[in-house]
Amino acid sequence: MPRCLNCLRIVFLVSVLGVAGCVVNPVTGQREIALVSAQQEVSIGQEQYVPSQQMQGGAYRTDPELSAYVSQVGQKLAIASGVDLPYEFVVLNNSVPNAWALPGGKIAINRGLLTELRNEAELAAVLGHEVAHAAARHGAKRVERGILSQGVLLAAAIGASGTEYSQEVLGGAAMATQLLNQKYSRDAEREADFYGTEFMAKAGYDPYGAVTLQETFVRLSGAGATDWVNGLFASHPASQERLNNNRGLLKRLRAQGFDGGKLGQPDFARAMQPLLNAKPAYEAYDEARELYAQGDYDAALAKVNQALSMRDNEALFHGLRGSIRYRQNRYADAITNFDRALARDDRYFLYYLSRGLSHAELGQRDVARRDLSASVRLLPTAPAYQALGKLAEADGDVERAKQYYAQAGQSDGQEGQAARASLVRLELPSQPAKYIAARVSRDDRDRLVLQVNNRASLALADIVIQVELMTEAGVRSTTSRLERLGPGETRLSLLNVDPAQVQSVNAYPVSARLF
Ligand SMILES: [Zn+2]
Repeated sequence: MPRCLNCLRIVFLVSVLGVAGCVVNPVTGQREIALVSAQQEVSIGQEQYVPSQQMQGGAYRTDPELSAYVSQVGQKLAIASGVDLPYEFVVLNNSVPNAWALPGGKIAINRGLLTELRNEAELAAVLGHEVAHAAARHGAKRVERGILSQGVLLAAAIGASGTEYSQEVLGGAAMATQLLNQKYSRDAEREADFYGTEFMAKAGYDPYGAVTLQETFVRLSGAGATDWVNGLFASHPASQERLNNNRGLLKRLRAQGFDGGKLGQPDFARAMQPLLNAKPAYEAYDEARELYAQGDYDAALAKVNQALSMRDNEALFHGLRGSIRYRQNRYADAITNFDRALARDDRYFLYYLSRGLSHAELGQRDVARRDLSASVRLLPTAPAYQALGKLAEADGDVERAKQYYAQAGQSDGQEGQAARASLVRLELPSQPAKYIAARVSRDDRDRLVLQVNNRASLALADIVIQVELMTEAGVRSTTSRLERLGPGETRLSLLNVDPAQVQSVNAYPVSARLF
């Protein structure tokens, strides 16, 4: 009964936000609150699946057979879950060992986790765990917690680990960053382990795979591997407790007759062989990326060339080579490399964004615009909108430039800041009142005080305020000048008039410029 009372109270509290109801969880069978309907869950997953993949390296496209194999294992677990969702499984081109599920059954596993698994049953344990998160509505509950704590579904982006431009992701896609970063509760993790293992047993796998998987995790966790700490262990701390729980569950499932399930070692080995062969190339690439991040471009180039000599068909390698050339101001060479990356994978935003920025540097505005627009269709980012704004400004289209800058300005990152400055610069001449507030009030000695406030997030200079005083003799105008006003700063000054003569006052900004 207390649960239902609580339930009612929450329904009452949030009913203002939309439809909420008490529902039965499809996996656990428990009654609980659903602020997000099943249909909303599915559409959240559908909307966020592409940006989530883009933020994490994009889909792994060099080996479609591996992706098909992973999907086919995933679909077996999806069926075993008994919860009807539009499940999808994707392998991401990312070396960090990680896996995740969005609400509505949109699931991903990184290339870097696959190479650590030993058989199909272990893969089924990972995917079963993620299927359980989706089927038991854990993701939807995180969204709901977001609603309860913030009152809004879409809030500012926070960085996803191991992701370029994550701080710069905008708009609806920013939600993906939140979904990927928030942690499930420990109860949710226990539930996902429990039901995930049950699903894998029902799908015909030996649940022993869930035990060996946890053993690997505990071992890696003890070794303190940074990749793992930043990846899977960030949301799923490995623990002896989880291992013990899985061992207990294995015993129980064996007692229930789940015996003789498949480990699937030969099938797994066959499907994984090309990726395992390519592992040294990806290791060279990961080193190159690190050197690139440290600004050691020559060493990064040598490493990425090494990766390319082992595997020429990987778009990521050509893309990194392009990024290095870009940093070295060799824009034409950079474009050649991004062309090669896009010839191998034309569905990853970063190649379009980087090629567009390179064209912009060379003053090739039309092609730059085309590439930047293609990049924001895959993932809206501040650097792309900022560059589009500059191009529009160069074309003399100030209105369009303002729109782009306003979009880029939503980001807290560097590009967002630059875009906000550009927007202030463009709008200040025609709309000074948008950034400067001026008003006149009487102080405790009845004197007239002019109060000027800089609402912009940047310092302003040469601010001119027009003050109109209504007196019995008619309107008297005076101007007040301020040399500089910091962001958010307010300045007070006494007006040199006899307050007794003044019936009313009006003050407004006339002009200002960026400091
Ligand atoms: Zn989990």
